[in-house]
Amino acid sequence: MKKYLIIAVISVLSLACKNKTAEMAAKGDVFEKEKVNTSKKPLFRTSITATEIDFIKASDKDAFKSIEFVGNETKEMPGALNGEELMDHGTYVFKAHFSDDASVEIWLHSSFGSKEKAKAYANKLTSRLGKLPSFMRKTLNHVVVHTGDHTAFAEDAGGFFVLYSDNMDTRIGNNDLEETVFHETCHVTFDLKYAKSKAWKAIQAADKSFITEYAKSKPNQEDIAETALFVYTMKTYPNRLSNEIEQWVKTNIPNRYEFLEKFF
Ligand SMILES: [Zn+2]
Repeated sequence: MKKYLIIAVISVLSLACKNKTAEMAAKGDVFEKEKVNTSKKPLFRTSITATEIDFIKASDKDAFKSIEFVGNETKEMPGALNGEELMDHGTYVFKAHFSDDASVEIWLHSSFGSKEKAKAYANKLTSRLGKLPSFMRKTLNHVVVHTGDHTAFAEDAGGFFVLYSDNMDTRIGNNDLEETVFHETCHVTFDLKYAKSKAWKAIQAADKSFITEYAKSKPNQEDIAETALFVYTMKTYPNRLSNEIEQWVKTNIPNRYEFLEKFF
């Protein structure tokens, strides 16, 4: 784990929610050590999915029960890469059921071309959705899945997030799809209510640092989603993170920890 932590801190991979400027900075620049700052530096250089830590493991408990094909429908599918219309005719709609009686629809763009190809990607999502805490899963209306390669993003007001098939495969290869699903669902669960709230701003001001550079760069959008994965993991799987990381969180962002741990 120590080795991984060191690799994680110094290595720069991809970002959870891609931001061109942040990505370019991450790829090009060595961390600016000289920069004088009164607050403590973030624990991680980029975003949580750029770490080598497997916060949520493929073997973790999973509430997924079954999936059914609902039909081909006309759906609003934001984020299409190839100039497709917002309204997609022939979206493959599946419904995943979970043991907490929650269900989440998975909408796969008509560009998948066949029900079988669409279902293969719906199947890649179900166990990851099943690993979400129940209260978070219940805030999700649906998930949009496009073909192609782009980084995931969430639409908190609409209660959904958007994934891309090639990027899903990359993240599965890196053991990161669980974390991506958790991160994007955090946007849906927490952002509207808390991300720009006075309470969260007071918490940020009281703490000395941010968990990642990514959270620091977008404090009103990414801070909760980035921090929540650490707090969730510490509460649900104590000692899965290294002692150094757990201590860092409790020492440097204690107010965030106290706020978020109540949920987990
Ligand atoms: Zn995000």
